[in-house]
Amino acid sequence: MPRPAKLARHTRDARRRARRRAGRAYHKRPIRSPDPRRRLGSGEGGPLIRDTEIRLEPERVAAPAEVTRAAAARLGVDAGAIRHVAILRRSIDGRRRPPVYVLRARVWIDETPVAERPWELPLRDVRAARPAVIVGGGPAGLFAALRLIEGGVRPIVLERGRDVRGRRRDVARLARDGIVDPESNYCFGEGGAGTFSDGKLYTRSSKRGDVERILRILVQHGAPADILVDAHPHIGTNRLPGVVEALRKTIVAHGGEVRFGVRVDDLALAGGEVRGVVNASGERVDGAGVILATGHSARDVYRLLRRRGVRLEAKPFALGVRVEHPQALIDRIQYHCDVRPAGLPAAPYGAVRRVGERSVYAFCMCPGGIICPAMTAPGEVVVNGWSPSSRSSRFANAGIVVETTTEDLRAFGGDDVFAGLRLQALTERAAADAGGDACTAPAQRLDDFVAGRVSADLPACSYGPGLRSVDLAAVLPSRVTAALREGFREFGRLMRGYLTHDAVVVGVETRTSAPVRIPRDPRTGMHPGVRGLFPCGEGAGAAGGIASAAMDGERAAAALLRALA
Ligand SMILES: Cc1cc2nc3c(=O)[nH]c(=O)nc-3n(C[C@H](O)[C@H](O)[C@H](O)COP(=O)(O)OP(=O)(O)OC[C@H]3O[C@@H](n4cnc5c(N)ncnc54)[C@H](O)[C@@H]3O)c2cc1C
Repeated sequence: MPRPAKLARHTRDARRRARRRAGRAYHKRPIRSPDPRRRLGSGEGGPLIRDTEIRLEPERVAAPAEVTRAAAARLGVDAGAIRHVAILRRSIDGRRRPPVYVLRARVWIDETPVAERPWELPLRDVRAARPAVIVGGGPAGLFAALRLIEGGVRPIVLERGRDVRGRRRDVARLARDGIVDPESNYCFGEGGAGTFSDGKLYTRSSKRGDVERILRILVQHGAPADILVDAHPHIGTNRLPGVVEALRKTIVAHGGEVRFGVRVDDLALAGGEVRGVVNASGERVDGAGVILATGHSARDVYRLLRRRGVRLEAKPFALGVRVEHPQALIDRIQYHCDVRPAGLPAAPYGAVRRVGERSVYAFCMCPGGIICPAMTAPGEVVVNGWSPSSRSSRFANAGIVVETTTEDLRAFGGDDVFAGLRLQALTERAAADAGGDACTAPAQRLDDFVAGRVSADLPACSYGPGLRSVDLAAVLPSRVTAALREGFREFGRLMRGYLTHDAVVVGVETRTSAPVRIPRDPRTGMHPGVRGLFPCGEGAGAAGGIASAAMDGERAAAALLRALA
């Protein structure tokens, strides 16, 4: 039954009044969508589901009544007729002064939304199914396991590190006392490098459906639903361990296995095929295929592959430093105001500049974050960053890194497949030597680093094990230092106030991506020389970040399922 024409009752004056009430919220004409569900009823004024874009001041965005009022004004309807507003996408337009939230919203007008069943992964019970081995319990390994369960194969996940609980103590000890456990640290252990990471989930992947699936699985396991709508989704280090634990419990509840403290030291190869793996204790674990998801910090795995004659390829990567500013300074630069307005999160930034033949860029920027020790062995210093979900620390940190070129690699073995690995390792050792002991990191004030002066003192910094003032040019390859200096100058031009005495440069950021690629046949997903071996994730050089590693793990599992079909 068509309802009385509600929209028709709105005269031009009524629309104007509604727009005035919503102030700045009214901008453009509503966005119409071809989705038939979005325009129901007959003719003008029937019940409607409409998509629209709303712009709201930060202090209003958290109040549902404000959002409804703004949607009403935008669509030119009475706010009382709106039954529900669902936010589809949320971003911040920081070019405006002051910045505004941009919401893409679905609005139900005189129409009650039908409650949708919560999305769930269609998992099977695989207790009696044939097994496949997954080496590594990071995002790639865990999502590969779930995909195998969906396809009716029993995953056996072998993880060298500890479970989340045990690992929490190990990373706390590392951050506080600078003591590295080579099997349990910021990179190794349940959830891999993703567990105590920042939990930023953006990826450059254009496969929206695949990204959304990963986000939905994370929400199903305790991640906040906001990640489904935020333009820059972020979980935060305080929440990630719980999500990772929940993923493991799902795998186990459906008949999969997750074993900790099991380091794989060898492959069981026969006639160009992998039949299983051998653990450090000598135990052999067989499976109908091996998914290798060991991340890019497991250098021993690259060495094992080389020893076994498994072909590897050199891959370009980036290295540099981590820079930390007071968050208030970044807020001022990015939000064009003296004090961050209420309702806005700690401001992020991105920057990329071409310096000669290479790019210098900001990487893994953590607003309101902490710099952490990300080494995996004593005698190395590597830094990275994380932030809690509240992004409430008074610091903003970001990796500032430079692409390596063949020129850089020449001194470390040129064409040899491990030249990049050697450059990475030597830079980390140089940082450890310069820093002194117990994971103290070498550092310099930003303006001093650019000017080539050793800093007389260093500002407060979030890095737990502490800093030592040195000349970072003695730690980094000279071409990298030169590119970084020029990059920082450029960033200073781009963001006024960025190149400052109050910021500190901490060395070194070397684990941005794998310096080695484990090749795979694009048709089968297997290594071209080893049947049944499915390399995936960051360690294979096929992903960079949590979401892309998770997607790649799913792809590897799908390839294994196809091979078994
Ligand atoms: C501090 C920090 C912050 C980060 N922040 C972000 C962020 O905000 N957003 C983002 O997208 N990415 C971030 N990253 C990067 C992200 O965590 C990685 O890209 C991602 O975890 C890679 O997933 P993966 O499964 O391929 O490998 P990993 O996560 O590295 O997992 C590999 C796993 O394999 C295990 N393993 C290795 N060798 C063996 C072996 N021989 N036997 C058994 N197990 C083995 C390891 O213990 C590890 O658990 C961050 C990383 C760090 C360290």
